[in-house]
Amino acid sequence: MEILYHSTRGDASEITASQAVLNGLAPDGGLYVPAQIPALDLAPEDMTSMSYQEVAYEVMRRYLTDYTEEELKKCIAGAYDSKFDVPEIAPLKKAGDAWYLELFHGATIAFKDMALSILPHLMTTAARKNGVSDKIVILTATSGDTGKAAMAGFADVPGTEIIVFYPKDGVSPVQERQMVTQKGENTHVVAIRGNFDDAQTGVKNLFGDHSLADQLAAAGMRFSSANSINIGRLVPQIAYYVYAYVRLLANGDIQAGDPVNIVVPTGNFGNILAAYYAKQMGMPFDKLICASNQNNVLSDFFAGGTYDKNRPFYTSSSPSMDILVSSNLERLLYRICGDNTETVAAWMQQLSDNGLYTVPEEMRAGLADFYGNYADEEAVSARIHELYQTTGYVLDPHTAVASAVYEQYRKETCDEKPAVIASTASPFKFARSVLHAVDGARYDSMTDMEQFDALAEAANLDTPAAIEEIKTAPVRHDMTVNIDEMRSAVCSILELN
Ligand SMILES: *Cc1c(COP(=O)(O)O)cnc(C)c1O
Repeated sequence: MEILYHSTRGDASEITASQAVLNGLAPDGGLYVPAQIPALDLAPEDMTSMSYQEVAYEVMRRYLTDYTEEELKKCIAGAYDSKFDVPEIAPLKKAGDAWYLELFHGATIAFKDMALSILPHLMTTAARKNGVSDKIVILTATSGDTGKAAMAGFADVPGTEIIVFYPKDGVSPVQERQMVTQKGENTHVVAIRGNFDDAQTGVKNLFGDHSLADQLAAAGMRFSSANSINIGRLVPQIAYYVYAYVRLLANGDIQAGDPVNIVVPTGNFGNILAAYYAKQMGMPFDKLICASNQNNVLSDFFAGGTYDKNRPFYTSSSPSMDILVSSNLERLLYRICGDNTETVAAWMQQLSDNGLYTVPEEMRAGLADFYGNYADEEAVSARIHELYQTTGYVLDPHTAVASAVYEQYRKETCDEKPAVIASTASPFKFARSVLHAVDGARYDSMTDMEQFDALAEAANLDTPAAIEEIKTAPVRHDMTVNIDEMRSAVCSILELN
């Protein structure tokens, strides 16, 4: 069955998967969605001897139907290789009352690697398939992890250029250092004086800028997106939820068909949306637990049906979740309103005009798959401390948000079904706040470098290669601009006039 893609906002034209990967965002500003969600007509119990790569192939081929078997297998093999420091790619670790699905074993030690290590392969294959010879310019806004992971994926990939915008004071020191030391002749990093939402809005505006598109076309270039709005990022993420369930089965922790809850530390709603798609494909997932930090727009949305971004913006110890506009929620809205693009377009217009919209009561049934809640800084720190004291397992602050929300969920509901928590970053990426939570007094006065060693010892882990690298790598990027200078920054980088 061929799966075609169209916009969430009304543009009725249907395109192939590879065209959707190339375009990133639909021309009307909507997100591409599959015209139907394919069934996983392969039982998890028949997948227990499969490798990560084999599971990924079974999931992805059902969405990316115009890629040949050979093309897709080559993309998968090129992505999930020795860049990951464990052969399982996404290992599952039991600690306390849940299983942690460690999605941080790739090049930049955060879960964005799961999708961004394969996106360049999917995109260059898509260009070839569609006879596109333009240079592909990847524009990306990052709250810290996407930018680095995207550059690591695209660095020196022929026929591509990548420009990353990040909020100057909105990322962790390790994240910033990882970005400004990025190698590759085709990589460009720009700090903006603003927050992540400013960066994301700025990038969306650049994508919608027709005169800029004309200038690019004249120079033999075109934009695409590595942000989680690209369907080429969403689809690879579905695979690891299927893989987690298959591993639980293979290890005898559950029986075939047993329901499992999924807990996801959420920002832009991409990761949890992948779990939702997996459930819609037929995976026996029960609650999808959407965990936010103090920027709790989503927990209010799931509680009351109103999405309201008019509120203070907090910077937290989980910066990749400091987001007030969760772009991928649009794909869930599309499903719950009965695939009605007019309804979605109207809500998105209200969001843009007034900063809020309300899903009417009769459409809220579709939200029942979800439970939303949030954890503030104190709860996050307490959770890191507690799990370390009781098990020796060290959480990063993002995963700790999820773990803390999961504990609240169990208290409220007494739901003891097995749970998989998406573990989205290595604690090394946020060593200072993690060690402060573990035992502040002991570690606070150490330098960053001393902290990496202290964390390795406390957690009984090897220091990841990504950390070893930034200890010595030279700074290669130092551009900072105001929000209204993003367009001119792009023009100057690409030498457009
Ligand atoms: C991006 C990110 C998240 C949020 O994921 P979304 O798909 O944007 O919801 C959570 N944790 C970490 C470490 C991240 O990098």
